[in-house]
Amino acid sequence: MTQITKVPLLDLTRVEDDLMGELRDAFERVLTSGRYIMGPEVEGLEAEIAEFTGAKHAIGVSSGTDALMCTLMALGVGQGDEVICPTYTFFATAGTIWRTGAKPVFVDVDPITYNTTAEHIAAKITDKTKVIMPVHLYGQCTDVGAIMDLAKERGIAVIEDAAQAIGAQWNGQGAGSMADYGCFSFFPSKNLGCLGDGGVVTTNDQELADKARLMRQHGGKPKYYHKVVGGNFRLDPLQAAFVRAKLPRLPADTEKRRANAALYERLFRAAGVVSAEPTEVAPHEIGLPVRVQDSHIYNQFVVRFGGGRRDAVRAELGERGVGSEIYYPVPMHMQECFAACGHTAGDFPVAEKAAAETLALPVFSGLRESEIEYVVEQVVDILKDS
Ligand SMILES: *Cc1c(COP(=O)(O)O)cnc(C)c1O
Repeated sequence: MTQITKVPLLDLTRVEDDLMGELRDAFERVLTSGRYIMGPEVEGLEAEIAEFTGAKHAIGVSSGTDALMCTLMALGVGQGDEVICPTYTFFATAGTIWRTGAKPVFVDVDPITYNTTAEHIAAKITDKTKVIMPVHLYGQCTDVGAIMDLAKERGIAVIEDAAQAIGAQWNGQGAGSMADYGCFSFFPSKNLGCLGDGGVVTTNDQELADKARLMRQHGGKPKYYHKVVGGNFRLDPLQAAFVRAKLPRLPADTEKRRANAALYERLFRAAGVVSAEPTEVAPHEIGLPVRVQDSHIYNQFVVRFGGGRRDAVRAELGERGVGSEIYYPVPMHMQECFAACGHTAGDFPVAEKAAAETLALPVFSGLRESEIEYVVEQVVDILKDS
Protein backbone atom coordinates (compact mmCIF):
# COMPACT_ATOMS: atom_id res chain seq x y z
CA MET A 1 0.00 0.00 0.00
CA THR A 2 1.34 3.42 -0.91
CA GLN A 3 1.60 5.95 1.86
CA ILE A 4 -0.83 8.83 1.26
CA THR A 5 0.60 12.30 1.67
CA LYS A 6 -1.76 14.34 -0.47
CA VAL A 7 -5.56 14.40 -0.97
CA PRO A 8 -6.88 16.96 -3.45
CA LEU A 9 -10.19 18.75 -2.85
CA LEU A 10 -11.06 17.80 -6.43
CA ASP A 11 -9.10 16.00 -9.12
CA LEU A 12 -10.80 16.25 -12.51
CA THR A 13 -8.14 14.16 -14.24
CA ARG A 14 -9.36 10.99 -12.53
CA VAL A 15 -11.49 9.90 -15.47
CA GLU A 16 -12.05 6.22 -16.27
CA ASP A 17 -10.66 5.07 -19.61
CA ASP A 18 -14.04 4.36 -21.18
CA LEU A 19 -15.35 7.83 -20.37
CA MET A 20 -12.11 9.28 -21.76
CA GLY A 21 -12.89 7.43 -25.00
CA GLU A 22 -16.47 8.71 -25.07
CA LEU A 23 -15.30 12.31 -24.55
CA ARG A 24 -12.89 11.92 -27.48
CA ASP A 25 -15.75 10.49 -29.57
CA ALA A 26 -17.92 13.47 -28.59
CA PHE A 27 -15.22 15.87 -29.72
CA GLU A 28 -14.80 13.97 -33.00
CA ARG A 29 -18.57 13.99 -33.59
CA VAL A 30 -18.83 17.77 -33.18
CA LEU A 31 -15.62 18.47 -35.10
CA THR A 32 -16.75 16.56 -38.16
CA SER A 33 -20.38 17.79 -37.96
CA GLY A 34 -19.50 21.37 -38.89
CA ARG A 35 -22.21 22.54 -36.42
CA TYR A 36 -20.44 24.69 -33.85
CA ILE A 37 -23.43 26.77 -32.70
CA MET A 38 -26.72 25.17 -31.50
CA GLY A 39 -27.95 22.14 -33.44
CA PRO A 40 -28.53 18.48 -32.57
CA GLU A 41 -26.03 18.11 -29.70
CA VAL A 42 -27.63 20.99 -27.78
CA GLU A 43 -31.14 19.75 -28.55
CA GLY A 44 -30.18 16.20 -27.62
CA LEU A 45 -28.80 17.32 -24.28
CA GLU A 46 -31.86 19.48 -23.60
CA ALA A 47 -34.15 16.46 -24.05
CA GLU A 48 -31.94 14.34 -21.77
CA ILE A 49 -31.75 17.00 -19.04
CA ALA A 50 -35.53 17.50 -19.11
CA GLU A 51 -35.97 13.77 -18.63
CA PHE A 52 -33.31 13.58 -15.89
CA THR A 53 -34.60 16.51 -13.84
CA GLY A 54 -38.28 15.81 -14.38
CA ALA A 55 -38.90 19.25 -15.89
CA LYS A 56 -40.87 19.52 -19.15
CA HIS A 57 -38.40 21.80 -20.95
CA ALA A 58 -34.66 22.40 -20.84
CA ILE A 59 -32.73 25.21 -22.52
CA GLY A 60 -28.96 24.89 -22.81
CA VAL A 61 -27.10 28.07 -21.85
CA SER A 62 -23.52 29.30 -21.57
CA SER A 63 -23.07 28.95 -17.78
CA GLY A 64 -24.95 28.69 -14.51
CA THR A 65 -24.55 32.43 -14.11
CA ASP A 66 -26.06 32.99 -17.54
CA ALA A 67 -28.90 30.61 -16.68
CA LEU A 68 -29.77 32.97 -13.80
CA MET A 69 -29.28 36.08 -15.95
CA CYS A 70 -31.33 34.67 -18.82
CA THR A 71 -34.27 33.70 -16.60
CA LEU A 72 -34.28 37.01 -14.70
CA MET A 73 -34.35 38.84 -18.05
CA ALA A 74 -37.05 36.50 -19.38
CA LEU A 75 -39.19 37.45 -16.37
CA GLY A 76 -38.62 41.12 -17.14
CA VAL A 77 -36.79 41.87 -13.90
CA GLY A 78 -35.24 45.35 -13.82
CA GLN A 79 -34.93 48.67 -12.07
CA GLY A 80 -37.44 49.20 -9.28
CA ASP A 81 -37.90 45.47 -8.69
CA GLU A 82 -36.76 43.48 -5.69
CA VAL A 83 -35.48 39.91 -5.84
CA ILE A 84 -35.17 37.91 -2.63
CA CYS A 85 -32.20 35.55 -2.28
CA PRO A 86 -30.11 34.06 0.53
CA THR A 87 -27.07 36.02 1.70
CA TYR A 88 -25.10 32.77 2.11
CA THR A 89 -24.56 31.59 -1.47
CA PHE A 90 -22.20 31.75 -4.43
CA PHE A 91 -21.79 35.28 -5.76
CA ALA A 92 -23.65 34.66 -9.06
CA THR A 93 -27.00 34.42 -7.26
CA ALA A 94 -26.82 38.03 -6.09
CA GLY A 95 -24.56 39.31 -8.88
CA THR A 96 -27.06 38.51 -11.62
CA ILE A 97 -29.91 40.17 -9.70
CA TRP A 98 -27.77 43.31 -9.36
CA ARG A 99 -26.87 43.31 -13.06
CA THR A 100 -30.55 43.47 -14.08
CA GLY A 101 -30.85 46.75 -12.15
CA ALA A 102 -33.08 45.15 -9.52
CA LYS A 103 -32.31 45.23 -5.80
CA PRO A 104 -31.14 42.00 -4.18
CA VAL A 105 -33.02 41.57 -0.90
CA PHE A 106 -31.02 39.24 1.31
CA VAL A 107 -32.37 36.73 3.82
CA ASP A 108 -30.64 34.53 6.38
CA VAL A 109 -30.36 30.75 6.14
CA ASP A 110 -31.22 27.74 8.26
CA PRO A 111 -28.31 26.80 10.58
CA ILE A 112 -28.66 23.07 9.86
CA THR A 113 -29.13 22.99 6.08
CA TYR A 114 -27.64 26.39 5.14
CA ASN A 115 -30.68 26.85 2.91
CA THR A 116 -33.15 29.68 3.00
CA THR A 117 -36.76 28.78 3.75
CA ALA A 118 -40.27 30.15 3.27
CA GLU A 119 -40.19 31.54 6.85
CA HIS A 120 -37.07 33.60 6.11
CA ILE A 121 -38.53 34.85 2.86
CA ALA A 122 -42.07 35.71 4.01
CA ALA A 123 -40.82 38.57 6.20
CA LYS A 124 -39.07 40.24 3.25
CA ILE A 125 -41.86 40.25 0.67
CA THR A 126 -43.01 43.72 -0.40
CA ASP A 127 -45.13 44.97 -3.27
CA LYS A 128 -41.89 45.40 -5.23
CA THR A 129 -40.89 41.72 -4.94
CA LYS A 130 -40.78 40.33 -8.45
CA VAL A 131 -38.84 37.10 -8.00
CA ILE A 132 -37.75 34.82 -5.16
CA MET A 133 -34.52 32.92 -5.80
CA PRO A 134 -33.88 30.08 -3.34
CA VAL A 135 -30.58 28.16 -3.59
CA HIS A 136 -30.12 24.43 -3.01
CA LEU A 137 -26.79 24.83 -1.25
CA TYR A 138 -24.13 22.10 -1.28
CA GLY A 139 -26.50 19.71 -3.08
CA GLN A 140 -29.44 19.56 -0.68
CA CYS A 141 -32.86 20.88 -1.70
CA THR A 142 -34.78 23.47 0.20
CA ASP A 143 -38.59 23.13 0.36
CA VAL A 144 -39.51 24.98 -2.82
CA GLY A 145 -43.19 24.02 -2.51
CA ALA A 146 -43.57 26.16 0.60
CA ILE A 147 -41.89 29.07 -1.21
CA MET A 148 -44.16 28.57 -4.23
CA ASP A 149 -47.19 28.78 -1.93
CA LEU A 150 -46.00 32.20 -0.73
CA ALA A 151 -45.16 33.40 -4.23
CA LYS A 152 -48.14 32.16 -6.24
CA GLU A 153 -50.81 34.03 -4.31
CA ARG A 154 -48.87 37.29 -4.76
CA GLY A 155 -47.99 36.83 -8.44
CA ILE A 156 -44.27 36.49 -7.66
CA ALA A 157 -42.07 34.19 -9.78
CA VAL A 158 -39.61 31.69 -8.29
CA ILE A 159 -36.25 30.72 -9.80
CA GLU A 160 -34.44 27.76 -8.23
CA ASP A 161 -30.68 28.24 -8.21
CA ALA A 162 -30.04 24.52 -8.57
CA ALA A 163 -26.42 24.90 -9.72
CA GLN A 164 -25.18 22.64 -6.92
CA ALA A 165 -28.10 20.24 -6.84
CA ILE A 166 -28.57 18.31 -10.09
CA GLY A 167 -30.35 15.06 -9.24
CA ALA A 168 -31.32 16.12 -5.71
CA GLN A 169 -34.98 15.89 -4.77
CA TRP A 170 -37.51 17.22 -2.29
CA ASN A 171 -40.48 14.93 -1.58
CA GLY A 172 -39.62 13.04 -4.76
CA GLN A 173 -39.54 16.12 -6.98
CA GLY A 174 -36.33 16.94 -8.81
CA ALA A 175 -34.32 20.11 -8.14
CA GLY A 176 -35.07 22.55 -10.94
CA SER A 177 -38.55 21.13 -11.61
CA MET A 178 -40.43 22.68 -8.68
CA ALA A 179 -40.52 26.41 -9.49
CA ASP A 180 -41.08 28.61 -12.53
CA TYR A 181 -37.47 28.17 -13.62
CA GLY A 182 -34.56 26.00 -12.52
CA CYS A 183 -30.97 27.02 -13.21
CA PHE A 184 -28.08 24.55 -13.43
CA SER A 185 -24.36 24.92 -13.99
CA PHE A 186 -21.98 22.57 -15.80
CA PHE A 187 -18.93 24.26 -14.25
CA PRO A 188 -16.34 21.49 -13.88
CA SER A 189 -16.62 21.33 -10.08
CA LYS A 190 -20.38 20.68 -10.18
CA ASN A 191 -21.60 17.07 -10.03
CA LEU A 192 -22.30 17.16 -13.77
CA GLY A 193 -19.53 19.30 -15.22
CA CYS A 194 -18.44 19.97 -18.77
CA LEU A 195 -14.91 20.76 -19.96
CA GLY A 196 -15.33 24.52 -19.63
CA ASP A 197 -18.37 26.70 -18.98
CA GLY A 198 -21.95 25.61 -19.54
CA GLY A 199 -25.38 25.51 -17.96
CA VAL A 200 -29.04 24.78 -18.49
CA VAL A 201 -32.41 26.33 -17.65
CA THR A 202 -35.41 24.12 -16.87
CA THR A 203 -39.12 24.90 -16.69
CA ASN A 204 -42.49 23.15 -16.86
CA ASP A 205 -44.14 26.08 -18.62
CA GLN A 206 -44.13 26.30 -22.42
CA GLU A 207 -44.41 30.09 -22.42
CA LEU A 208 -41.52 30.50 -19.98
CA ALA A 209 -39.45 28.06 -22.07
CA ASP A 210 -40.11 30.16 -25.18
CA LYS A 211 -39.13 33.35 -23.31
CA ALA A 212 -35.84 31.86 -22.11
CA ARG A 213 -35.05 30.61 -25.62
CA LEU A 214 -35.75 34.10 -26.95
CA MET A 215 -33.44 35.72 -24.36
CA ARG A 216 -30.72 33.16 -25.12
CA GLN A 217 -30.30 34.56 -28.65
CA HIS A 218 -30.47 38.36 -28.19
CA GLY A 219 -34.27 38.47 -27.98
CA GLY A 220 -34.77 38.53 -31.74
CA LYS A 221 -37.97 36.98 -33.14
CA PRO A 222 -37.88 36.53 -36.03
CA LYS A 223 -34.11 36.80 -36.20
CA TYR A 224 -32.96 40.46 -36.39
CA TYR A 225 -36.38 41.80 -35.24
CA HIS A 226 -36.28 42.72 -31.56
CA LYS A 227 -39.19 43.50 -29.25
CA VAL A 228 -36.93 42.77 -26.30
CA VAL A 229 -33.20 42.86 -25.52
CA GLY A 230 -31.59 39.51 -24.77
CA GLY A 231 -28.02 38.27 -24.77
CA ASN A 232 -25.78 35.59 -26.16
CA PHE A 233 -26.41 32.87 -23.61
CA ARG A 234 -25.91 29.89 -25.95
CA LEU A 235 -24.39 26.57 -24.87
CA ASP A 236 -21.60 25.34 -27.20
CA PRO A 237 -22.49 22.07 -28.95
CA LEU A 238 -19.02 20.81 -28.00
CA GLN A 239 -19.80 21.29 -24.29
CA ALA A 240 -23.26 19.78 -24.81
CA ALA A 241 -21.65 16.70 -26.36
CA PHE A 242 -19.26 16.35 -23.40
CA VAL A 243 -22.12 16.61 -20.90
CA ARG A 244 -24.08 13.99 -22.86
CA ALA A 245 -21.14 11.62 -22.50
CA LYS A 246 -21.10 12.15 -18.73
CA LEU A 247 -24.81 12.27 -17.89
CA PRO A 248 -25.38 8.46 -17.91
CA ARG A 249 -22.72 8.15 -15.19
CA LEU A 250 -24.19 10.81 -12.93
CA PRO A 251 -26.39 8.49 -10.81
CA ALA A 252 -23.42 6.19 -10.05
CA ASP A 253 -21.17 9.20 -9.33
CA THR A 254 -23.79 10.57 -6.95
CA GLU A 255 -23.96 7.22 -5.14
CA LYS A 256 -20.18 7.32 -4.79
CA ARG A 257 -20.36 10.82 -3.27
CA ARG A 258 -23.01 9.57 -0.81
CA ALA A 259 -20.84 6.60 0.08
CA ASN A 260 -17.90 8.96 0.65
CA ALA A 261 -20.03 11.15 2.93
CA ALA A 262 -21.24 8.09 4.83
CA LEU A 263 -17.66 6.86 5.32
CA TYR A 264 -16.57 10.26 6.67
CA GLU A 265 -19.47 10.17 9.11
CA ARG A 266 -18.72 6.65 10.27
CA LEU A 267 -15.03 7.36 10.80
CA PHE A 268 -15.51 10.70 12.56
CA ARG A 269 -18.12 9.15 14.86
CA ALA A 270 -15.87 6.19 15.61
CA ALA A 271 -13.14 8.69 16.59
CA GLY A 272 -15.55 10.33 19.06
CA VAL A 273 -15.03 13.89 17.82
CA VAL A 274 -18.49 14.69 16.45
CA SER A 275 -20.43 17.47 18.17
CA ALA A 276 -23.87 16.59 19.53
CA GLU A 277 -25.36 19.71 17.95
CA PRO A 278 -24.29 20.25 14.34
CA THR A 279 -24.20 24.03 14.83
CA GLU A 280 -22.70 24.24 18.33
CA VAL A 281 -19.20 22.87 17.89
CA ALA A 282 -16.60 22.94 20.67
CA PRO A 283 -12.91 23.58 19.79
CA HIS A 284 -11.99 19.86 19.93
CA GLU A 285 -15.05 18.79 17.90
CA ILE A 286 -16.24 18.65 14.33
CA GLY A 287 -19.81 19.41 13.22
CA LEU A 288 -21.11 17.10 10.49
CA PRO A 289 -23.52 17.99 7.68
CA VAL A 290 -27.14 17.00 8.28
CA ARG A 291 -29.15 15.26 5.61
CA VAL A 292 -32.74 16.38 5.93
CA GLN A 293 -34.11 14.13 3.21
CA ASP A 294 -32.34 11.20 1.60
CA SER A 295 -31.51 12.82 -1.69
CA HIS A 296 -28.52 15.05 -0.78
CA ILE A 297 -26.10 14.83 -3.74
CA TYR A 298 -23.06 16.16 -1.81
CA ASN A 299 -21.74 18.63 -4.33
CA GLN A 300 -19.83 19.64 -1.22
CA PHE A 301 -19.25 17.85 2.08
CA VAL A 302 -19.23 20.77 4.48
CA VAL A 303 -18.23 20.38 8.12
CA ARG A 304 -17.88 22.95 10.91
CA PHE A 305 -15.12 23.85 13.34
CA GLY A 306 -16.00 25.92 16.39
CA GLY A 307 -14.09 28.10 18.84
CA GLY A 308 -12.64 30.25 16.04
CA ARG A 309 -10.44 27.35 14.91
CA ARG A 310 -11.59 26.89 11.31
CA ASP A 311 -8.84 28.85 9.59
CA ALA A 312 -6.12 27.22 11.72
CA VAL A 313 -7.51 23.75 11.03
CA ARG A 314 -7.62 24.52 7.32
CA ALA A 315 -4.03 25.78 7.29
CA GLU A 316 -2.85 22.71 9.17
CA LEU A 317 -4.75 20.42 6.77
CA GLY A 318 -3.01 22.20 3.92
CA GLU A 319 0.37 21.50 5.57
CA ARG A 320 -0.59 17.84 5.66
CA GLY A 321 -1.56 17.77 1.98
CA VAL A 322 -5.35 17.85 2.40
CA GLY A 323 -7.22 20.17 0.06
CA SER A 324 -10.21 22.07 1.45
CA GLU A 325 -12.18 25.20 0.62
CA ILE A 326 -14.42 27.73 2.33
CA TYR A 327 -17.82 28.05 0.65
CA TYR A 328 -18.24 30.99 1.34
CA PRO A 329 -16.09 33.25 3.51
CA VAL A 330 -18.10 36.46 2.97
CA PRO A 331 -21.92 36.47 2.87
CA MET A 332 -23.46 38.65 0.16
CA HIS A 333 -24.71 41.33 2.57
CA MET A 334 -21.06 41.92 3.64
CA GLN A 335 -19.68 42.24 0.09
CA GLU A 336 -18.28 45.70 -0.70
CA CYS A 337 -20.05 45.83 -4.05
CA PHE A 338 -23.43 45.54 -2.29
CA ALA A 339 -22.72 48.26 0.27
CA ALA A 340 -25.61 50.27 -1.16
CA CYS A 341 -27.98 47.61 0.24
CA GLY A 342 -27.08 49.13 3.62
CA HIS A 343 -26.22 46.06 5.68
CA THR A 344 -23.73 45.69 8.51
CA ALA A 345 -22.19 42.81 10.42
CA GLY A 346 -24.78 41.18 12.64
CA ASP A 347 -27.70 41.56 10.23
CA PHE A 348 -27.70 37.86 9.33
CA PRO A 349 -26.07 36.04 12.24
CA VAL A 350 -26.63 32.47 11.02
CA ALA A 351 -24.92 33.15 7.68
CA GLU A 352 -22.08 35.05 9.38
CA LYS A 353 -21.44 32.21 11.81
CA ALA A 354 -21.50 29.68 8.96
CA ALA A 355 -19.07 31.78 6.93
CA ALA A 356 -16.68 31.74 9.90
CA GLU A 357 -16.99 28.03 10.77
CA THR A 358 -17.62 25.91 7.68
CA LEU A 359 -15.07 24.00 5.62
CA ALA A 360 -15.55 21.74 2.60
CA LEU A 361 -13.55 18.49 2.62
CA PRO A 362 -12.81 16.37 -0.49
CA VAL A 363 -15.88 14.30 -1.51
CA PHE A 364 -15.63 13.93 -5.31
CA SER A 365 -16.60 10.61 -6.87
CA GLY A 366 -13.02 9.65 -7.80
CA LEU A 367 -11.88 9.84 -4.15
CA ARG A 368 -10.46 6.62 -2.68
CA GLU A 369 -11.45 5.18 0.68
CA SER A 370 -7.83 5.27 1.85
CA GLU A 371 -7.78 9.00 1.10
CA ILE A 372 -10.88 9.59 3.21
CA GLU A 373 -9.24 7.62 6.01
CA TYR A 374 -6.18 9.87 5.70
CA VAL A 375 -8.29 13.04 5.84
CA VAL A 376 -10.13 11.81 8.94
CA GLU A 377 -6.88 10.83 10.67
CA GLN A 378 -5.43 14.26 10.03
CA VAL A 379 -8.52 16.13 11.22
CA VAL A 380 -8.77 14.02 14.37
CA ASP A 381 -5.08 14.55 15.06
CA ILE A 382 -5.38 18.32 14.59
CA LEU A 383 -8.43 18.50 16.86
CA LYS A 384 -6.51 16.71 19.63
CA ASP A 385 -4.13 19.69 19.88
CA SER A 386 -6.68 22.04 21.34
C1 LIG B 1 -21.70 27.45 -9.60
C2 LIG B 1 -22.85 28.26 -9.14
C3 LIG B 1 -23.44 29.25 -9.95
C4 LIG B 1 -22.83 29.73 -11.23
O1 LIG B 1 -22.53 28.77 -12.18
P1 LIG B 1 -21.37 29.07 -13.25
O2 LIG B 1 -21.57 27.97 -14.24
O3 LIG B 1 -20.07 28.99 -12.54
O4 LIG B 1 -21.61 30.40 -13.86
C5 LIG B 1 -24.57 29.89 -9.48
N1 LIG B 1 -25.09 29.61 -8.28
C6 LIG B 1 -24.55 28.68 -7.47
C7 LIG B 1 -25.20 28.39 -6.15
C8 LIG B 1 -23.41 27.98 -7.85
O5 LIG B 1 -22.87 27.08 -7.04
